[in-house]
Amino acid sequence: MGAEGEAALRERAGADLLLLEDFDVQEARLGLAGDMGKTAHAAYALELCDRLCPPRHAEPAVFDWLREFLMRLEAGRASAERLRVFELGLLGRLGFGPALDRCAVCGRSDLCDEKARWYPEQGGVLCASCTQRGDILTAATRRALTGLAGMSLAEAEKASLDRETNAGCRRAILGLVRTHIAGPLRSLDFIEKMGGDR
Ligand SMILES: [Zn+2]
Repeated sequence: MGAEGEAALRERAGADLLLLEDFDVQEARLGLAGDMGKTAHAAYALELCDRLCPPRHAEPAVFDWLREFLMRLEAGRASAERLRVFELGLLGRLGFGPALDRCAVCGRSDLCDEKARWYPEQGGVLCASCTQRGDILTAATRRALTGLAGMSLAEAEKASLDRETNAGCRRAILGLVRTHIAGPLRSLDFIEKMGGDR
């Protein structure tokens, strides 16, 4: 699976979907097939872009980010760290990047880590004065999210998250993703079934 190329699309009156008239393959990412973990990560990355990007709108920065992600996935292994960096980078490029270093409502930056809350509907972390609801975001998770959000995909290759921190980051990011899309993400079930790094 996975091919990059030039597509010729045609508009159809009254239809949301464009008609694919031609597709000229320029690069086939054959390395993504044959490894279920890589296939799962690629399917998830593509579904995220599909669901988060507004329809009929060119997103060159998102395209480049996705392209680099798929190239690195093809060349390496399916790693949770690369996936976290991809998710955060994608959200950032679409203007959905979370507030992490200050409260998303009042802006104070002296957040007490034990009381900081994750409130995706408000755009990130909230201080204790602004909410008593939402999941508590631990200091370790907040630090990790801040680090991951600032990383390039090249840096992600060297990053290492322990299992618990990755799970915390994953939960927080998914919460944010879900505020921007309706309905389930099909590829997430696929990743769950793969076990391993997710
Ligand atoms: Zn606040």
